[in-house]
Amino acid sequence: MAKTYSYAARDSKDALKPFTFERRAPGADDVQIDILYCGVCHSDLHTARNEWHNTLYPSVPGHEIVGRVTAVGADVKTFKVGDLAGVGCMVDSCQHCASCAEGEEQYCENGFTGTYNGPVFGGENTFGGYSDSIVVKAKFVLRISHDDSNLAAVAPLLCAGITTYSPLHHWKVGPGKKVGVVGLGGLGHMAVKIAHAMGAHVTLFTTSPNKREDGLRLGADQVVVSKNPDEMAKVVNSLDFILNTVAAPHDLDAFLNLLKRDGTMTLVGAPDSPHPSPSVFNLIFKRRSLAGSLIGGIQETQDMLDFCAKHKIVSDIEMIDIQGVNEAYERMLKGDVKYRFVIDMESLKKESHAA
Ligand code: NAP
Ligand code: ZN
Repeated sequence: MAKTYSYAARDSKDALKPFTFERRAPGADDVQIDILYCGVCHSDLHTARNEWHNTLYPSVPGHEIVGRVTAVGADVKTFKVGDLAGVGCMVDSCQHCASCAEGEEQYCENGFTGTYNGPVFGGENTFGGYSDSIVVKAKFVLRISHDDSNLAAVAPLLCAGITTYSPLHHWKVGPGKKVGVVGLGGLGHMAVKIAHAMGAHVTLFTTSPNKREDGLRLGADQVVVSKNPDEMAKVVNSLDFILNTVAAPHDLDAFLNLLKRDGTMTLVGAPDSPHPSPSVFNLIFKRRSLAGSLIGGIQETQDMLDFCAKHKIVSDIEMIDIQGVNEAYERMLKGDVKYRFVIDMESLKKESHAA
């Protein structure tokens, strides 16, 4: 057992504050990682504040983890002490259902175990990456092939990267395809970069006119301010695929109308209350699909990391100390993040040494 320092929410109204707990000693299949950086995902906020009504407290969020291996179990052949390593949203799954067999552990029929908040179908709590170290089964640990000059900016790939790469890949986005990305936040900015690197024509939809130039810089071919009906009217019936990352309920028809015949809009944003129902007629008359997608499998996450390393893709980040995480949450709620907060875990280690 190892004493572990972290920041946790004690209840839905509480700010995140220092919290100490014990991690297991690494078993034969485990990798122990000293956490260097952890991204701040909107799911962390949803969970810390119990917005999905399933939070186990105390809640230590964080599932965009990059660190260095400090110990490995006797049976681990894939990592050695000193290696860089990543951990994303999952730390375990049943390993024997059909989804696990197909490398789609995120759809494990018996429920994967989240890096934080425990197994999705309930069970013992797990504590995430807002902490100084973590112990994870080697099969769920990712290799980092980016050079180590900007590791903090690699961390958000572990959730924002895979959650956008997986649907873009699944729905065969590539050259000749017209793709829309809705929302320029953590997920959205990764979607723009990845869809551009896949060779698609990318249209970014944002509610924030001041993000127009950033959208173009990040790889969008055009930017549409979704609150402007004239701009929206120009792109009606023009897109093959839309990835919708918005974290709040909104009118889906405004975007479904932009799909060509047979086009698909996939929701990855997970608001705390439902969207207004879309119009059935908008779907039927053009055989459009409305779909959803959850993070990505472990092999697919490795493929995404390797794809991003090859294309020199990292996240645009704002580095914060862990003591600033509550303020970062408030800014994220206002859409005021360019484009992912990442916690420098040195700030936690200094605080714990001082304690
Ligand atoms: P984020 O950084 O806060 O970005 C969300 C973006 O949505 C905002 O920057 C904003 O972009 C846009 N937006 C428009 N209206 C909004 C409103 N009323 N409230 C909030 N945002 C609004 O969040 P994120 O980390 O990218 O996560 C986005 C969502 O995906 C969250 O619900 C998160 O829980 C979910 N998620 C899902 C999965 C999955 O597996 N499906 C994985 C990770 C996260 P503009 O300013 O450009 O409009
Ligand atoms: Zn996430």
